[in-house]
Amino acid sequence: MGIVVQKYGGSSVATAEHIKAVAERVRKAREEEGLDLVVVVSAMGKTTDRLLSLASEVARRPAPREIDQLLSTGEQQSVALLAMALHDRGVGATSLSGPQAGMKITGRYGSGLISEIQPERMHNLLAEGQVVIVAGFQGMNALGDVMTLGRGGSDTTAVALAAALGADRCEIYTDVDGIYTADPRIVPEARRIPEISSSEMAEMAWRGAKVMHPRAVELGALYGVEIHVRSSFGEGPGTIIREDTDLERLETRETLAGIVHDLDVSRVTLTGIRTGPGTMSRIFAPLAKAGVSVDVIVESAPKEGFSDVAFTVSRAGFAEARRLAGEIAEALGGEVEGEEDLGKVSVVGTGMLNRPGYAAKTFDSLGRAGIPIRMVSTSEIQVTCVIPAAQVEEAVRRLHEDFELEERDV
Ligand code: ASP
Ligand code: MG
Repeated sequence: MGIVVQKYGGSSVATAEHIKAVAERVRKAREEEGLDLVVVVSAMGKTTDRLLSLASEVARRPAPREIDQLLSTGEQQSVALLAMALHDRGVGATSLSGPQAGMKITGRYGSGLISEIQPERMHNLLAEGQVVIVAGFQGMNALGDVMTLGRGGSDTTAVALAAALGADRCEIYTDVDGIYTADPRIVPEARRIPEISSSEMAEMAWRGAKVMHPRAVELGALYGVEIHVRSSFGEGPGTIIREDTDLERLETRETLAGIVHDLDVSRVTLTGIRTGPGTMSRIFAPLAKAGVSVDVIVESAPKEGFSDVAFTVSRAGFAEARRLAGEIAEALGGEVEGEEDLGKVSVVGTGMLNRPGYAAKTFDSLGRAGIPIRMVSTSEIQVTCVIPAAQVEEAVRRLHEDFELEERDV
C-alpha cells in the first residue's frame, strides 16, 4: 500500500475544534481510502509568534539554542493532541517529535537544514497499521539537541518526509483551496490553477505567493515529490504541483502561470561610487555576513569609473542594509539612498526568454496604468518589477487583465 504524507498548517489546527476536524479527515483517508498515513502538523494558530514574543519579554537577546528549545514545543503540542483525537475515534496513532521521527538537522539554530532522515521507526509504526504524526519544523542536531528549520519550516518537513519515505504524494492542507492566477483577495476573477510545474510553483513561491514555503517546493522538485495543495476546510481538488510531462502541447502550450506580488520590499541605492573589479563583492559580502538576504540587484553602466548600484531587501533587513551600504558607499566616494515602502509584482511562466513580448507587455501595462517601475529583473521564468507599495494591488489587477488570465485555460 502506498504512503501519503499530509501536512496541516497552523490555521488548520488553530483550536481543539480544528484538531478534531483534522482527525476526522485523517480517519477518513485511513479507513475509506486505506492509505498509510504520515501526518505533519504545525503549531496551533499563532503559537510560534506567541512563544517568540514571550522569549523577548524575558530576555533582550534570547540564545538561539533556547529559542529552538522553546519553539519546538509548539509543534509537539499539536502532534500529541492530534494523536489523542485520533485515539478517540478508534484510530491507532503515535505522535513523534522531530528527533523521535529520525529527522537529522545541521546548520544554525533557528535555520537548520535537514541532512538525513532515519525512517525505521516510522516504517515500523506504519507496518503496525498506525497513523504516524510528526512534529513539523524540527529535528535533532549532532549534539542531540532539538533544532528548528526556520519559520514556515513544516512544509519542508512534510516534503522531505515524502521524499525519504518514497511516498506517493505529499498533501499540503491550508486555509486556501489551491494556487491561483493572482491573489483572489485582489483579483476576484483569479482562477485556481489545477496543475502547475514545480519550477513555476517554486518561482511563484519565491516571488511572493504565500501558500507554500518556496524551500519546500524546491525540495519537492529536486526529489520528484508530487505535491497537492488543498483546503483543510473543504473537499475541492486544489492544485497539483509536479514535473511537467504534458507532451501533447510542447511549444504551443500557454506559458503563463500567474501574477504574484510581494509587499515586503525596500531598496538601497549606492550612488556615484568608484567601481571596478571586486566592487560588488565589497558591497555584498558584508551584507551576506550580517545575514541580510538581497533579492534584485542592478548596477548602472559605469561612467568614467563611477556607477550606481541598487538592490532590494525585505523591510526587516532595510535598516541594517542601509547602514552597511552607507559605510561602503562612503569608502568608495559615493552616497547612499533608501526607499522603504516598495513592492514587487511578477509575471511568472515558463519559456519567457523565448518570448520577449512578455517583458514589453508587462512594462506597457504598468506604463498605461501610470505605475512607475523602479527596478526590473527577468529570467527564463519571470519578469519582476519593483514598484511603489501603494500601487502593487493596481498593478496586479492590470497585469491579470492585460494578460487575459481570467479567460485562459491555465
Ligand atoms: N510553527 C512554525 C512557524 O510558525 C512552523 C510552521 O508553521 O511551518 O513558523
Ligand atoms: Mg505556520
